[in-house]
Order: sequence, then C-alpha cells, then structure tokens
Amino acid sequence: MGFGDSLPLLFQLIALLVGLAAGKAWERYKLRDGRWIDRRRARDSHHYVLGLNFLVSNQIDLAIEELSQATRVDSDALEIHLILGNVHRERGQVARAIQVHQALLQRPKLTKVEHAYILLCLGLDFKRGGFVDRALEAFNEVVRMDPNNQYALLYLQKLHEEQHQWADAHRIRKQLVALSGPDTQPRNQAILGFLENALGSEALAVGDRGRAARHFEEAIGLDAGTVPAFLNLGDVRLMQGDVAGAENAWDRLMISSPERAYLAFARLEKLYEQLGQPHKFEERCLRLIAANSQDWRARLALGGHLAKRGRDTEAFEFLLTALEHNPHGLTVHQSVWGVLLKLDLGRALVQRYIESARSSVFFLDPHVCVKCHYRSTELLWQCPHCHEWNSFVEERIAPAQDATVEM
Ligand SMILES: [Zn+2]
Repeated sequence: MGFGDSLPLLFQLIALLVGLAAGKAWERYKLRDGRWIDRRRARDSHHYVLGLNFLVSNQIDLAIEELSQATRVDSDALEIHLILGNVHRERGQVARAIQVHQALLQRPKLTKVEHAYILLCLGLDFKRGGFVDRALEAFNEVVRMDPNNQYALLYLQKLHEEQHQWADAHRIRKQLVALSGPDTQPRNQAILGFLENALGSEALAVGDRGRAARHFEEAIGLDAGTVPAFLNLGDVRLMQGDVAGAENAWDRLMISSPERAYLAFARLEKLYEQLGQPHKFEERCLRLIAANSQDWRARLALGGHLAKRGRDTEAFEFLLTALEHNPHGLTVHQSVWGVLLKLDLGRALVQRYIESARSSVFFLDPHVCVKCHYRSTELLWQCPHCHEWNSFVEERIAPAQDATVEM
C-alpha cells in the first residue's frame, strides 16, 4: 500500500471517529441488556491504541491483530468492528469487509447514528468492489436517515461524477453547498461551475444548443475560473451563427483568465481570418504580451500568425523571445526553424537561435495538481489522481542562467 492509497483510509478513519464521537449514541455509558457497560473499556485498551498506531504507520497486519484483540476485550465495541471492516476493504478484501459490516447491521437495538455509519462503511465497500448500484443505494439510504451526512453526500457526488451523471452530481453538490459554511463558498462555486459546464457539454452532445449555452453561461456566472465554459460557449454561439457572441465569449476568457487565454487562440485566429480582420488577432496577442512580459504562448501564436502573412522577420523576433521564456517548448523550436528556413537560414539569425537554445533547460510534465502534486504533460480540468476540479497550475520555466523553478 503506497502513501497515496493510505490517504483515503486515514480520511475515512478520522471521519468515522469524529462522527462517532459527535453522535449522541456514543455517550460514555450505555445501557445494554439491562446493565451499564463502560463504553470506553475497549477503546482504552492498549490493543486499540496500538492498533490505531499501526494503522497510521501502514503496518496493516499488525493493526488487524491488535484491533482484533481489542474486540475480545469488549465484543460489543461497534466502532472497532467498523474499523476492522474498513481495513479489510482497504487491503482489497472487499468480500470480507462487506461480511463484517453486514453482520453489524444485524445487531439489535442499533441507534440511527450507528445504523447510518455502518451503512456508510458498507457503501464504501460496494464502491471499492465496483458494485456501483449497491454503493449508490447504501449512500442514499444514509442520506435518508441523516440528510446532513456530508460524507455520504460527497461519496454520492463522486460516484455520479464517475458515472458521468452530471445532473445528479450537480443536485447533490447543491445540497452540500447548503450544508457548508461561507468560507467554503468560492471552492463550492468553482465545483458547481465545472458541473454546469459538464451539463452544457451533455446538452450539446444531444444537439440542444440553447440549453447548452444556458449551462455554459450559468457556469461562467458561478465562477469566472470555469475556463472550458468560455470556450464551449463561444463554440455554441458560432454554431448558432452568432459571431459576435463567440468573439465576446472568448474575449471574456482573455480578460478573466489571461494565463489560459491561449486556449482560445486557434479559435480567434480562425474567426478573424474568416471575417477578413486578421489585425484583431494581432492586437489581442500584443495586449496579452503587454500585460504579461513572460507570456510565451501569445508570442508563439503571434509569431506563427505573422509568419503565415509573410512577415517573417517580425515573426522571428517574437518567436525568439518566446523561446527565452519557454526554452523547453518543442513547438516554439519548430516554429523558429520554420521561420529560419523561410529566411534562407540567415547566418546571423541562426547564430542568435543557437545561443538562445544553448542556455535552455528541459522540464517534463509542467502541469502540477496543487492538491496532490500529480503531474501531467497536458492541462487537465479534473485531477485523475485526487479528482479535484481545476487544481492544476503550471510550473513556470526559467532559462538556465537564472535556473530557478517557480510555481
Ligand atoms: Zn490531484
């Protein structure tokens, strides 16, 4: 079990303990079979504490051994059985986990809180085993018993996302938003934005452009950081024959997220070419460069654009500056070579290019997830490792002479 695998287990463990501690059913003493039992007995045993310690340090077999010992001190100790079941699940012994948790459900006199937590664990077992329908059923049952159970809601949202059931995921996210405090509002808006964007793409896939556009607008309204919604909105507007609407959507993207403006470059360049207004593309690139001197993508795009129009000497200058800010970009090098060839490999120009490239450094996978540090060669909107939305930043690449990597 790697570090990454142990995180969800720890999360669930903590969730479980916090939840149980908060539950009213978990008073220290509990009447069972007509006598008071000290609920702390099993939890106070050294087996329990050792077991938890082994869990945290990933020594799973030892953890199981100690926790099993703890259940012998007090076989009623529900939470230890719950944890044991969870450990089995995390080791991939799903059938065993289901067995343990289903046995707990058969206990008489379970309180509502206990019942809900067992079902939550069972849902996780089903999820892990790939029994999606049964997992959904279990989590929904938890929510029916305890409408404010944020864990069950979160797992439901993620399951629906995995199934691409965007409307369900969106509905559940809204429930979660209603339950959470104002400090989580910006993050919630961002997630809802991406879910709205997914709903728009779904509508577009069945040819409903009007509905798609409304979802994209809604996504942008929720959070202007929903970059793909701007791109998609422009695409839909163009399909609807609304050229000004498309231009407007992509221009708004450039203003709200200039670091992602490059995603609209190909669209805008084509649009302005078709309209016979290529200078408008040039203007937009120059505006981005003026606002951010390190914007190599605007320089690359402008260089390519100028080269296409026969303005090769101007193009070369923009491309060489692009190279200074991103020496590892293969596309930049290719564009430079293209222009050099058109300029008959002028000796002085080739010399400048070689000197610039010599000081280059090479980095792979420049996109990094800020939440789990997963690395990717391409920009992703949802992290494939931790499933967070819009969590990738680009590592800024510096030339070798001041070889520092900044985030
Ligand atoms: Zn991640």
